[in-house]
Amino acid sequence: MKKDLNSNTDIKITLLALGCSKNLIDCENMSTELRNAGYDVINDVEASDIVVINTCGFIESAKKEAIDAILDCADYKVPNGNVKKIIVSGCLSQRYPEDILKELPEVDAVLGTAHYGDIVDVVARLVSEIGSETKDKINLTSGVGGFSHLVKDRDLSTEAYAWLKIGEGCRHRCSFCAIPLIRGTFVSRPMEDILEEAKLIAAKGVKEIVLAAQDTTNYGIELYNERSLSKLLRKLSEIDGIEMIRVMYGYMDGITPELIEEMANNPKVAHYLDIPIQHGSDRILKAMYRRDNAELITSRLEMIRKAMPDCIIRTTVMVGFPGETEEDFQTLKDNLRKWKFDRLGCFIFSPEEGTPAYDMPDQVDVETKQRRYDEIYELQKEISAEQSQKRLGTVTRVNICSVSDDGIFYIGRSYGESPEVDPVIYIASQEEELKIGDFVEVKIVDCSDDYDMTAVTI
Ligand code: SF4
Repeated sequence: MKKDLNSNTDIKITLLALGCSKNLIDCENMSTELRNAGYDVINDVEASDIVVINTCGFIESAKKEAIDAILDCADYKVPNGNVKKIIVSGCLSQRYPEDILKELPEVDAVLGTAHYGDIVDVVARLVSEIGSETKDKINLTSGVGGFSHLVKDRDLSTEAYAWLKIGEGCRHRCSFCAIPLIRGTFVSRPMEDILEEAKLIAAKGVKEIVLAAQDTTNYGIELYNERSLSKLLRKLSEIDGIEMIRVMYGYMDGITPELIEEMANNPKVAHYLDIPIQHGSDRILKAMYRRDNAELITSRLEMIRKAMPDCIIRTTVMVGFPGETEEDFQTLKDNLRKWKFDRLGCFIFSPEEGTPAYDMPDQVDVETKQRRYDEIYELQKEISAEQSQKRLGTVTRVNICSVSDDGIFYIGRSYGESPEVDPVIYIASQEEELKIGDFVEVKIVDCSDDYDMTAVTI
């Protein structure tokens, strides 16, 4: 059937979100803008006229994933398939726009991080070119940043929870990290803007919101001249319908007594923190240009656990940073044994162009990096198992997120499990039927699995 190119409703568009939750939010925003412009936003590359791939360019593995995704979509491009135009947005386009357009000729447009808001114009331009000779490729990558305005009625990927971005960019300058080059320095989103969006989310019946930024504990510093996360949490918790607020991606020096007090005393705020520490050796932390050290990490963890003994704490570490000796690595492991994070993610250092660590001396060889990575996960398996035993027999509220493939269990998350990165709780329900996004009380009855838990409704 011939398409009516004057009608947006006849143009099908799929958006693919790669990378982190911040990228997913940008994708959800673009989806809404395209839908509001009348396009048919679907979730099927093969059946689409246009595909938008929102990429991550944080580390080597993320770049590879993005390039593979672009090549997969290219397989569906005319004359072999339906896809007529491919747009690449996000962090990879911001870093390497010319390379993408030159090396991947199937790509028709690249959109940098400051140009998400141009998606409707770019699609309109590409639609007008369908069926005729391709004109110049579109390269909109000047400036850095993110979505600057509130997109009302954002398309959410699930009814169980919603990510909520509270800032863009990062004010830190870790020596290994390209994020400040891609996203710029930290800019807080105005509080009234965040609250308005949270109300819209609550009005859709979503009860859990998850706050995201490169460093959420920085919130408000440049806008209100003070750290304002605790105030934001208080205001968000006043919104009817919101039952759980989760804070992701903090920085240890931003975990202030005021924030801990708010978290401990506000029943809507999950006793959960995700604080990437990156390393445990002061020598490496210094070379990473981190602002914290092992002593500060120890004291903040003590402060958090004293105020919230049930707090689940997640972290991220990096192995194989240039100059990391066996001694540094052992210090990291010794400290991880002492700090007992409930959950941990590990990255292998990859040299990123434009960052100070790119050409630092004493780069660690690939085999050593991999061995250290494996050892960290081996160690964390023991620590996580020990930590999760403490939850056996406890009663907790869970958010129902899905149903297991065999249909026997509901799958949920309590205050202690963040979406996408943490284990889940399998729930045998004595209730008739539970809906996605329902909050129910359960008792944890089995923690013997390495990570996931089993519970029953009570
Ligand atoms: S805190 Fe450091 S690692 Fe995290 S985004 Fe900022 S610069 Fe990158």
